[in-house]
Amino acid sequence: MRGDSLKTYKNFIGGKWTSSCSKKTFYSLNPATERPIGSFQDSSKEDLDLAVTSAEEALHSWSDTPAPKRAEILFKIVELLKKDKERLAKLEVIEMGKVYKEAAGDVQEAIDIFEYMAGEGRRLFGHTTPSELKNKFNATIRIPIGIVGIITPWNFPIAIPSWKLAPALICGNTIIFKPSSYTPLCGIELIKILNEAGLPKGVVNLLTGSGERIGNPIIRHPKIKGISFTGSVETGKFIRKNAELKKVGLELGGKNAIIIMEDANLDLALEGVLWGAFGTTGQRCTAASRVIIHEKVAKTFEKMLVNKTKKLKLGSGIMHNTDIGPLINKSAVEKVDYYVNLGISEGAKLLYGGKPGKTKGFFYYPTVFSNVKPDMRIAQEEIFGPVVAIIKIKDINEAIKVCNNIKYGLSSSIYTENMAYAFKAINKIESGITYVNASTIGAEIHLPFGGVKETGSSREAGWAGIEEFSEEKTIYIDYSGKLQKAQGIE
Ligand code: NAP
Repeated sequence: MRGDSLKTYKNFIGGKWTSSCSKKTFYSLNPATERPIGSFQDSSKEDLDLAVTSAEEALHSWSDTPAPKRAEILFKIVELLKKDKERLAKLEVIEMGKVYKEAAGDVQEAIDIFEYMAGEGRRLFGHTTPSELKNKFNATIRIPIGIVGIITPWNFPIAIPSWKLAPALICGNTIIFKPSSYTPLCGIELIKILNEAGLPKGVVNLLTGSGERIGNPIIRHPKIKGISFTGSVETGKFIRKNAELKKVGLELGGKNAIIIMEDANLDLALEGVLWGAFGTTGQRCTAASRVIIHEKVAKTFEKMLVNKTKKLKLGSGIMHNTDIGPLINKSAVEKVDYYVNLGISEGAKLLYGGKPGKTKGFFYYPTVFSNVKPDMRIAQEEIFGPVVAIIKIKDINEAIKVCNNIKYGLSSSIYTENMAYAFKAINKIESGITYVNASTIGAEIHLPFGGVKETGSSREAGWAGIEEFSEEKTIYIDYSGKLQKAQGIE
């Protein structure tokens, strides 16, 4: 397919599909073939101003619509997503590269979160609490933030936007959404569905384009009151610094570990490591990029892992027998290769992989390192590719120390049959999520998701999604008919 015969996709502003004022476009590529799949608007600040005006015009009426009525539209979105699940999953394979069954899981997450948040339309709970004074009623209610900016990465191009759009909508906000420039088409197809479900014009506006040209003005726009961002630590820090007093949610990177103790069921742990390290080609914020293993079982486990890793099949995600799809782009291949060479030069032992795929497309072999020391850069930095580092330890205390010896704190896991080890891990690991006898990946949408340390301390999904996209307002109603002063003042 030649670039100039491709379909050009537009922005969505005020209920209309519109070309950018910049008159410029960019391509999104299929990472398995390196061919462009469409051309997209390279949006400018002028487009953002138009989108903000339309979001502002829609805000009053949308936030005034009773939440159960807003929920009816979300339920309709669920229906449409279910009908379109296969098409959307195939599109995601083509644009993002992950294997079909994982892409279908990504769409399923979108279905689940819209369903959960539609249910929230009849809850959106506040609190009531007794007053310290007679004849006085105290409560809190939830109110929308206003216009919110949603900026997302490419690795879950339908699920992550949905984790943010669904709660933002049910809470009564209007939205400016910027998808990643590597997966704009997934964002556009999702917004088409929201529009078809009957969202009033201006409630959701989509602008494609780079972080620098359009993301940056979103985070600085004075009329945008909240930002919800998922992406790298570097961009997250930039946003925290430049969004000034906006309400900001940051879901950032990870360097997650699976701890395998001497008593673990090694077959089970093996499945968890393969899924955690190589699922989505290692491009998950929750990917298991470190295996911290008891020295008594390390050698056996390494053999088991290498035997299974050798059998994983690289290829296009659309083929049913593919285990590992491509990385997102050329620079991701270069980054992974850089870290592999770094690992070798740091003294780690390359047990398997360590090279790009031979065919066209951004492929890289699943890679296993042993003899990794906790302070090596391959054990410290987020590689975001199919590379796993095995670190040996002597006991549970050392395991937890090594696990915590990083700047990130998203997900973690321990395989053990020992309840005391499990609870030590639950209580002492510095991460937002800990799994016991399961991999580091596999979050469910009705529980809060997020991390600590440089992963950011925000939470989204479940009830935390409602907290992220609303403000809690405190109400005091005094029906005593006289001036009553709190704190016992006469
Ligand atoms: P990224 O480079 O930080 O980009 C994320 C989004 O931010 C993209 O839409 C990007 O736009 C935009 N952006 C870049 N610079 C910006 C700026 N100055 N102002 C405003 N927006 C800006 O991250 P990525 O490579 O897409 O995603 C991978 C990272 O996301 C990894 O670190 C991964 O761990 C993290 N992640 C975290 C979670 C979580 O929940 N904790 C989940 C998934 C991924 P363009 O790319 O279009 O220029």
